[in-house]
Amino acid sequence: MDSIVKGTLFNGFARVAIISIKDAVNEEIKIHDLSPLSAAALGRTMAAGVYLGANLKGKNDSYSITIKGDGCIGGVVVAGNGDYTLRGYVANPHAELPLKGNGHLDVGGGIGSGTMTVCKDLGLKEPYNGTVELVTGEIAEDFAEYLAKSEGVNSAVCLGVLVDKTGCVGAGGVIVQAMPGITEDMLFIIEDIISGFSAISSILAEKSPREIFDFYFSHLDGELLEEIPIKVQCSCNQQKIENALRSIGRKDCDEIIAERGSIEISCHFCEKKYIFNKEDIDKIWKK
Ligand SMILES: [Zn+2]
Repeated sequence: MDSIVKGTLFNGFARVAIISIKDAVNEEIKIHDLSPLSAAALGRTMAAGVYLGANLKGKNDSYSITIKGDGCIGGVVVAGNGDYTLRGYVANPHAELPLKGNGHLDVGGGIGSGTMTVCKDLGLKEPYNGTVELVTGEIAEDFAEYLAKSEGVNSAVCLGVLVDKTGCVGAGGVIVQAMPGITEDMLFIIEDIISGFSAISSILAEKSPREIFDFYFSHLDGELLEEIPIKVQCSCNQQKIENALRSIGRKDCDEIIAERGSIEISCHFCEKKYIFNKEDIDKIWKK
């Protein structure tokens, strides 16, 4: 089962989140026919997304992460809600590069240089937007940079996806956030533990988030607060697609119908196809 475990360390001077999303990544591999490299880039970004979603206040609040890079993956988009559902896609689902010297997938090379933008809709007048330049393109460092620069939060971020011939066998991450008043000694201990997570995806392949918390963090005056399930779920529906058609305009829709007989729109996230013929278009503009 995919889930996020949230806890505190040092009686509250640090917060930890442990995210496991193997099933979600396998679902995305199936939906988009992802190569291991594209799956790793999407899975790491999804783990960061789960963390953003877990910190939203309302169930209907939403977020998106958009990564634009000049590498062969092209870009990654993940969107989700405060109810722990999320979805995502990559520009190039079949990206491939040679493995790095340490045997890891070269996500940084596949993303290249560019930007990471986080958008949050908290039900206020204006959505919140924050953009940072990519640090390494490996997603974890870039997300830590976003948290520090845009949200003013000092965090250690570890994200990973392990893919073999059968699909994704471990995915997710560990994020530790320093709280006001944290001491140098506490930071040193946290850094020491995090530095042991260079193969976090292998750890996630063997241990549940609860087991990781118990094994690595519970002895640091740790308290496990809650565990919440995570689900891949798209938010597209007939109404939203009809609204998109309206924004294209009647004239353009009629031209496409005259040329091709119908209009086909696929959802980027779940690849569901919506098909409209002339009658459907007439109906939309009669509404
Ligand atoms: Zn969809």
